[in-house]
Order: sequence, then C-alpha cells, then structure tokens
Amino acid sequence: MQTLEKIHPKLQELKTSLTEINDLESAAALLYWDQATYMPDGGTAARGRQMATLRQIAHTKFTDPAIGQLLEDLRDYEASLPYDSDKASLIRVTRHDYQRAVKIPPSFTAKFSYHSAECYEAWAKARPANNFAAVQPYLEKTLELSREMANFFPGYEHIADPLIEDADYGMKAKSVRALFAQLRAALVPIVDAIASQPLVDASVLHSSFPEAEQIAFSLKVIKQLGYDFQRGRQDKTLHPFMTKFSIGDVRITTRVKENDLNEGLFSTIHETGHALYEQGINREFEATPLATGTSSGVHESQSRLWENFVGRSRNFWQFFYPQLQAVFPSQLGNVSLDKFYRAINKVERSLIRTDADEVTYNLHVMIRFDLELQLLEGSLAVRDLPEAWNERYRSDLGIILPNDTDGVLQDVHWYGGMIGGMFQGYTLGNVMSAQFFAAAVKANPEIPSQIEKGDFNTLHNWLKENIYQHGRKYTAAELIERVTGGVLSIDPFINYIQRKYGELYAL
Ligand code: ZN
Repeated sequence: MQTLEKIHPKLQELKTSLTEINDLESAAALLYWDQATYMPDGGTAARGRQMATLRQIAHTKFTDPAIGQLLEDLRDYEASLPYDSDKASLIRVTRHDYQRAVKIPPSFTAKFSYHSAECYEAWAKARPANNFAAVQPYLEKTLELSREMANFFPGYEHIADPLIEDADYGMKAKSVRALFAQLRAALVPIVDAIASQPLVDASVLHSSFPEAEQIAFSLKVIKQLGYDFQRGRQDKTLHPFMTKFSIGDVRITTRVKENDLNEGLFSTIHETGHALYEQGINREFEATPLATGTSSGVHESQSRLWENFVGRSRNFWQFFYPQLQAVFPSQLGNVSLDKFYRAINKVERSLIRTDADEVTYNLHVMIRFDLELQLLEGSLAVRDLPEAWNERYRSDLGIILPNDTDGVLQDVHWYGGMIGGMFQGYTLGNVMSAQFFAAAVKANPEIPSQIEKGDFNTLHNWLKENIYQHGRKYTAAELIERVTGGVLSIDPFINYIQRKYGELYAL
C-alpha cells in the first residue's frame, strides 16, 4: 500500500480491524508455539482453552457485519483499481475470507477446537498401545464434524470440495483425482523398476550423531540458505512445524534423532523452506490477510523445493559434505560423497509417509487422499478404516503392515484436525516445486553451479521476486501462470524424478 498516496478512509478502517484480528490470531499462534516447545505438561488443559478463547474472539470480530458493510462500501473503489494492485488484492482476499467465515457459526469453531484437543489426546495414547478401537469413537466424531463443516458450503460437487478449496483454492476432488491419476501412472513403473534392484545401503546415516553437533550443523546450513535469524529462531519440538507471529518473527522447530542423520537435517531444511516464504512476503502486507502463503500446495512447494531440489542434490553436498565430514570425522571420514549421496536418496517402499523418499512419497499421500474422500462420502466407515488402509498399502506399495501404530495411527493428521482438505497439498506441493525450480533455473541457468559453491542468493532472490513477496495476492493458479506461462503440470516433476533416479539407479 503506497504510503504517499492517500488511503481510502473505509480501507483504513478495514485495515485497522484486520490488524486487531491478526493480533489475536498471532497471540493464539504464540500460545501454540509455547505449548509445542517449552510449556510444562500441566498447562495443557488451560492452554487449549486459552487458544480457543482467542480464536473465538478473532472469529467473532472478523464475522462482524460491520466488516461485511466495509467490504460492500469498498466495491466501487476496488473496481477502480488494477486487479493486482495491493489495495484491490487486499479487498478481494479479505472478501473471500469473510464470505467463507460468515458461513461457519462461532459455536462450531469452538466445538471443533475442543473436540480436536480430545481426539489428539486419545490418539497420543492409542498409537503406542496399537489400539485403534480406543480412538475410533473420537475419529467418528471428527468425521461427523468434518461433514458438518463441508455442509456449511452447500452446492458442492463432492463433499470434500469445500475443505479442499479452503486449503488449495481453485482445486476440487475431481481435479485433484485427475492429476493424481496421471501422477500415479507415471510413478508406479519407476517405483517398480527401482524396487527390482538391490536396496541401497544407507547404514552410514544410522551410526551415532550427537544432537548438539547435528543442530549446530543444520543452523549453519540454513543460515547460508538465507534464513534470517534476526527475524526467526529455531527450537526443539516433537513434531516439527513453522509458525509466524509477524513478518519479522517467523520461527521453525526441529527434532533430532542421534541414530538418523536424515531426520533433523532434512526436516530443518524443510521447515526453513516454509519460513523463507513467510519471511519473504512484502512487509507492507503486515497484519493483513495478504501476509501469508497463498495455498497449502504453494507453501509445501517451497519446503520441498529447498529440502529436495536443493538439499538432496549432489551439487549441494559437493559444497557441504566436506564440512559435514569435518563435524563427524569418525562417522563419515571414510564415507565417499557418492555413497552419502546415494544414502540420502535411497528409495524404498516403506510404512511411514513422513520418512518416505521423493519417489514413493506421493503414493502415500494418494492413499490418504483416497481414503479421506471415501470416509467423507460415507463409502468407508471409520471402523473399517484400518482394514482399508492395510489393503491399500498392500496393493499400492506391496507392504504388509505389522500393526496399526505404523499404519492408520502413524501420524497426527485426522486426529488433530479435519478429515479432508489436508493431504492433496503435500503432493500438489511436490508437483509445483518442480515447476517453480525448473522456471528458476530456466531464468538463471547458473543456479546449479552456484549451489555447488554454497551460493543460494540467485535462487532465493528469484523466489522472493516471483513468489514470496506476493503473499496471497495471487492464487496458486495465477502464480503458476505468471511464473511458468502455463498451468499446473506433472511433467517437470516426472522429468526430474526420471533424470535424478535414472542416474542413481541406472534405469
Ligand atoms: Zn511442510
């Protein structure tokens, strides 16, 4: 919002209200960050209530008819501005959010928030006990509430559509299914070809790597990638995430396993990718609905771009591997770069989505996406979910599950939020990350050789210029069109997988 130009008084009024709402939401996010990092267990119940209180006040303020009136009053003004001006974009995106928010009763938000906390607790106990039956009634309630949520937006083609649209605006169950079918058809032969070869020995990543050294090394890496520690920090948690309280305070969290070098390092780079996006947003958008990533797919494209296209590339390790060897001389001193590179890119049909490699990862996501659509449709009952899950892992990944702990109970999704709207973003993100990276390299062919020298500036600046600064100004589809001149396509992702793994596995 150009400061020299006089701002429309109604827009100023709207911005003042939006700032207050943003501040309440940021305070709730900070309470969550504290809960997930430093809060003693004793605070759990009160903290859940405190967050729900803040979010409910924010929701009530945002759905106040006065906001709707301001948005109405600003229609002519908005129409007089260019579509992609900051002001028109702010009004457009706020109206989109407002029209959605007014359809959700505040009582539902509170009810769902309390239920999620209960369901999460039940899952946290059920998982180690391998006891799906204990969490089943909670999950049934989650499904009922997820359907209730979808039904606040009648007129959908598929009941999952309102939930998908909320996270990935412009996508529907049908369009995601079509894209996933193409992707599956292209990926399965590659996975089969790799599976027919001997398994790569990745034991070099599983000796003992003391936590403090791992953390110090990761911090050095992400500083070099461009994560701004004046506007962020990293702390330890159980399930790593990125969170933001303002464009000047974008935090990441990590977890480290001493016997698995993959875990801490790549999840740190992953969360850094999310954080670089948020740190790169135009600071003029501060405290408005424009000041965040535009969709869950685009957000994930940034974490995966930095994690995989950069962090798992040979170029990257040509620069960083000697430094890593210097940190862990007894563990890696005699391990060649080639052996290390193969280990971090080992492809294996495995049980756990979050540990999966780049090639098989999307197969996990597609199973989850299909199952959640079936649950929402009512063609699959919650009590039959473990069996359906096991059957899909057998048919799609050739895996016989030993238990539900590493099967249907394996991660918090579904047990700490809605069923629906979450999984498509992970795979959309992978597909987009390839499109964006290809576009960056096309515009700046020197990027791979710069990565080899530990120089990430050209890539980071290109992403800031073309993606980050815009926040939510453009939708995912608009962004892809602006950046690549085309539409969402699986081709760059499949080309990348074929090239990289074709070389690694001599396909
Ligand atoms: Zn992510």
